[in-house]
Amino acid sequence: MNVVTRFAPAPTGRLHVGNIRTAIHNWLWARKHQGRFILRFDDTDRERSSEESAAAIRADLAWLGLHADEEHKQSARFDRYDAALERLRASGRVYPAYESAQELDLKRKVQLSRGKPPVYDRAAVALGDADRARLEAEGRRPHWRFRLDHDAPITWDDLVRGPQHFDPVLLSDPVIRREDGSWLYMLPSTIDDIEMGVTHVVRGEDHVTNTALQIQMFEALGAAPPAFAHEALLVGSEGKLSKRLGSLGVDAMREDGIEPAAILAKLARLGTSLPVEPAADASALIETFDFATFGRAPARFDLEELKALNARIVHLLPFERVADRLPQGMGAEDWAAIRPNLRSIAEAADWWAILHGHVEAAASEEDRGFLLEAASAAESLDWADAPWPQLVTALKQGTGRSGKALFHPLRRALTGRDSGPEMAAMLPLIGRDESIARLRAAAGV
Ligand code: GLU
Repeated sequence: MNVVTRFAPAPTGRLHVGNIRTAIHNWLWARKHQGRFILRFDDTDRERSSEESAAAIRADLAWLGLHADEEHKQSARFDRYDAALERLRASGRVYPAYESAQELDLKRKVQLSRGKPPVYDRAAVALGDADRARLEAEGRRPHWRFRLDHDAPITWDDLVRGPQHFDPVLLSDPVIRREDGSWLYMLPSTIDDIEMGVTHVVRGEDHVTNTALQIQMFEALGAAPPAFAHEALLVGSEGKLSKRLGSLGVDAMREDGIEPAAILAKLARLGTSLPVEPAADASALIETFDFATFGRAPARFDLEELKALNARIVHLLPFERVADRLPQGMGAEDWAAIRPNLRSIAEAADWWAILHGHVEAAASEEDRGFLLEAASAAESLDWADAPWPQLVTALKQGTGRSGKALFHPLRRALTGRDSGPEMAAMLPLIGRDESIARLRAAAGV
C-alpha cells in the first residue's frame, strides 16, 4: 500500500506539544511505509491565518527534521470546494439554511428542556422556493449544511480506538459554509484528503465526531474513506494539559536547549506501550512505530522528563553532529571529555570557559599546603600519558589524603567548581602549565 499521511495545522500560531506530536506520528507512519507526508495548511479562516505563522510552522518542522514531501494550502483551493459543493447540491446532499445563531440557540434550549438531544431539526429542508425567496428578500443569506444519510449507520475500525459506531440520527447536519461564504474546516478537509490520496488520517481524539460526519462526506463525494487513527490527548503531569504546556512551543523548547531528537524520541512513544529511550536519530522510532501500541488513556507529558531524556541524548551525540554549535576551537577530545556532564549543548561553552578561561578559586587555609604539594607533583608528571591517575597516586602517597579530602580541593582549584566532568579527562585539556598555575594560585602563591 502506498501510504499518504498529512499534517494539517491552521496557521494561526506556532506549533505546540500537542500538534507536534500529531505531526511526528504522521511523519513516522509515512516514513515507515516509504510513503508520502503532506503538510497542509488549513487556512480557510483568512482572518486568523497568517503567512508568518505558516513560515514559523515550516521552520519548526524543518528544525525537528520532519520533512514534508508536499505542501498545500486550502486558500489556494477554493475553486475545488465550490465545485464539490455544486455536485453535492445537485445530488441533494447539501442544502441552504437561514436560521440565525440566536434562533438555533433557542431551538437547542427548547429541545434540552424537553429532555431531547439538541439535534438540528432540518426545518430548512422543508423550505420551498417561495420560502427561500421570501427569506432572502428579508435580507437573509443562507449558510450551508451537509445532509447526513440517516439510513446509513456510521462505522469504522479506528487504528487506535478499535470499532467505532455512530447513529447519524443523533447528529446534526453539519454547517459546512457560513453565510459570508467562508468555509468551515469539515468539507474542504474531506475534499483535500480525497484529491491528495490520503490513506491515513492521524489526529487527536477531539476529532472523533468530525470523523463520523466526514465519513458520510467521503461517501457522498464518491470516495472510500481513508483509515483513521485518533490518538488520546496529552495531559500535563498535574493531570490536565495546562495553559503553559498547551502552548509550549518548539521555539521555547529550542531555547531551553532541548534537541529535536529528544522531542522526537519522547513524543513518538509517549502514550504507547513502547519504552521512551534516548536515540540520536529516528531510525528505531520509524521501525517500531505502530498504532497497535497506542493506549487509549490520556498520555502524560512532563517537561522535566523531556529535559532528562534530552541530557541522555546529548551524551550520545558524536562530535560531528554538534561541531558547528560548539565554541570556536573546541575539538573532538574536548567534546568527549565534557559531554557526559551536559544537559544541553549550549552548556559546553561554560565548560570550555573553565578549561581555557580564568579560574578564581582561593583554597581554605588547611588545603593550601596540600595544593602546593600538588603543584610540585604536577611538575614531574608525564603529561603525555594520563596525568591525573599519576597525580592522585603521588598525592595519596605523599600526603596520606584520600577520598573527598584528596579530590575536592583539587577539583576546586583546577576548575573553580565543586562538580563536573571527570578530572581524568579535564586535566590534559587544561594542560600542564595552566594546571600548575591554577594549583599554585589556589594555594595563594
Ligand atoms: N486543522 C485541523 C486541526 O488542526 C486539522 C484536523 C485534521 O487533522 O483533520 O485540528
